[in-house]
Amino acid sequence: MNTNIHIHFIVTKRCNRSCAGCYSSYAYDRWGLDKKELTTVMSPEIAEKGANWVAHLLKHWDVAHDEPDVLVRVGFMGGEPLLQPDLVFKISDIIRQTTSPHFNIYTNADKFSQEILSEAKSRRIMFTINPADDPIEVVEKKLKLAKSICGGCSMTMALNSFNLERIEELVKLGIRSDSHMRINKLHQGPSLPGYIDEYERQMSKGLKLLIEADVPIWPNFLLHCVFPLRGLYSKKRGFIETDYTCRCGSALFIVDPDGSVRSCLADPTSKVGDIDAQWLGLNSYVTPQEYIAKDIPECEKCEWAWLCRGDCPYIKKLQYGDWVKKVSPYCSANKNLYPLLMELAKKYVSYYNVDSSLIGPW
Ligand code: SF4
Ligand code: SF4
Repeated sequence: MNTNIHIHFIVTKRCNRSCAGCYSSYAYDRWGLDKKELTTVMSPEIAEKGANWVAHLLKHWDVAHDEPDVLVRVGFMGGEPLLQPDLVFKISDIIRQTTSPHFNIYTNADKFSQEILSEAKSRRIMFTINPADDPIEVVEKKLKLAKSICGGCSMTMALNSFNLERIEELVKLGIRSDSHMRINKLHQGPSLPGYIDEYERQMSKGLKLLIEADVPIWPNFLLHCVFPLRGLYSKKRGFIETDYTCRCGSALFIVDPDGSVRSCLADPTSKVGDIDAQWLGLNSYVTPQEYIAKDIPECEKCEWAWLCRGDCPYIKKLQYGDWVKKVSPYCSANKNLYPLLMELAKKYVSYYNVDSSLIGPW
């Protein structure tokens, strides 16, 4: 049985912002795609079909309907998903008829309103806020608003040059608001002069702040998609040992507004199927990317391969032009940051009294 499946709906590719470093917009330039597509919105019919396809997929993958919600994650992304809250709620309502995944909306929170927050709360949908280039006080206000209605709220930060410079402020905000943080290096960072060195410098400051914090923040997905503990934490069930949580290349699906399904969150050219009843997921297709270190000589002998898995394959696709098994341009930064990440994981394990054997190779 698959214990960990991620499905993301792109309900619209439109966004009300145009942030520096946006991976979506960058990819359209990089791969020479027509940017008109960045205005597309999912139709209610595709939304309904997509939601039914999820139920079908989970059934085929033998995910029992009463499985704990932590194991299946359904995300709403964009563009800006709250430009189409009706679609978000429609999809979640249909999926909830057959299973109860963990729902999350990834948003810049510009469209927050009491109505949207209450609708989300009634469906147990959580928010992950992207600070974009908002002043810290504004990000804090948005986090507080979401927390006051929905209980919890996380942050996901794309480290464009603006956020890289203020990473300490963002991390301090995450600590004081007890918000789980995802801190993503730019996929295209290696093509920006000096970015990798600056990323390592600033990220190490952020990690040190996290290590020093009185209460450790859950270290899930810090450093792009790296996950330092061999398992997941569920408030309902405590710690669950499972395989790594970024299911890139094995159980991660992105449903586009036209109903096609991709395998990479950032790569609009990674179509692998459609939301049609015949198509049952990556198991039945050749996976275009593999988030594993195997067959990369430098990675195979690396002490961090169990954690890094060779780094994000799309970073390498951008660097080398295709899904290739080559060492990541971020390799040396990774090797310098992983010891700090492990320090944080150890602090977490001891603070929450989690079995320390869950840190390490799986
Ligand atoms: S290749 Fe990288 S960006 Fe794409 S889904 Fe995998 S981890 Fe995410
Ligand atoms: S740290 Fe470098 S060598 Fe080690 S697994 Fe990651 S990319 Fe490969």
